[in-house]
Amino acid sequence: MKDFTTTSPVLYGALEAGGTKMVCAVGDESGEIHEQVSIPTTTPEETMPKVIAYFKDKPIRALGIACFGPVDVRKESRTYGTILETPKLPWRHYPIVGAMQDALKLPIGFDTDVNGSLLGEVTWGSAKGLTDAVYFTIGTGIGAGVMTNGKLLHGMLHPEAGHIKMSVEPGDPYKGKCPSHGTCFEGMASGPAIEARWGQPARELANRPEVWTLEACYIAQALLTAIMFLSPQRIILGGGVMHQAQLFPLIRQKVRELINGYLKTRELDDLDSYIVPASLHDDQGIMGSVKLALDAAAGE
Ligand code: ADP
Ligand code: ZN
Repeated sequence: MKDFTTTSPVLYGALEAGGTKMVCAVGDESGEIHEQVSIPTTTPEETMPKVIAYFKDKPIRALGIACFGPVDVRKESRTYGTILETPKLPWRHYPIVGAMQDALKLPIGFDTDVNGSLLGEVTWGSAKGLTDAVYFTIGTGIGAGVMTNGKLLHGMLHPEAGHIKMSVEPGDPYKGKCPSHGTCFEGMASGPAIEARWGQPARELANRPEVWTLEACYIAQALLTAIMFLSPQRIILGGGVMHQAQLFPLIRQKVRELINGYLKTRELDDLDSYIVPASLHDDQGIMGSVKLALDAAAGE
């Protein structure tokens, strides 16, 4: 008879806290997800008891939370583990780490949703083994996770790379969707920005080449900034908009043009391997959350 006491893997809880849904899962140290549920994100009063109930009776050793932002990820901060000035008003100042800690009494790892996705890709996916990588998500919003020298970058708070300044492309009359900056990266290139500019949801514009040529120009501008500023060994692109696979060759070509021969590295010689899609089938966030839990259990 199989001895389950010695062969069952140690389990870890993973919570990918998103603006529309909370993905709750249990996984193991190989990144395998054993079970997963999705709970709509409404208000903390309604949503969090369901999240807690999911994890409460699970035999998990630690919990990892990758959360929509902005969030306080500064361990030394009085408000560590809380959601900050989010436009999702019911969640403003909500102490998500504290709430889970009180309920579960377990080690908890915590980071931004995009750092979580990057961590998933660095641990098990298309940036495996790298020490310096950037993950952009291009969806309802735009954000970036950054790893430098093997550590997820927080700095003052955490990067907000969706709000870097863009040069408006010649002939693009769109004024941008960001309430704070108008024509920042998110304002010009998020899914809602595409829909507002072209008058149709992004996914319905697959056959309009001009949409994706312009989109690639903005994404390439952001990648150029990341390359020149952070010197990543690889850049991963995920999020709903990047399901338009035709973007990848357009982005690579535009990045090559923008670099304009200034940098010559082995990585940039092979842009097909340098600018890559997320590889974990939209599980990168939840798998990264498992890794946050593993690291928390190890006391990191
Ligand atoms: P979120 O950012 O809300 O977590 P997603 O990354 O899936 O979720 O992004 C949703 C956005 O991506 C929507 O604005 C939608 O227009 C866009 N999107 C989703 N699927 C596609 C697709 N196949 N092609 C183009 N755009 C898409
Ligand atoms: Zn902005």
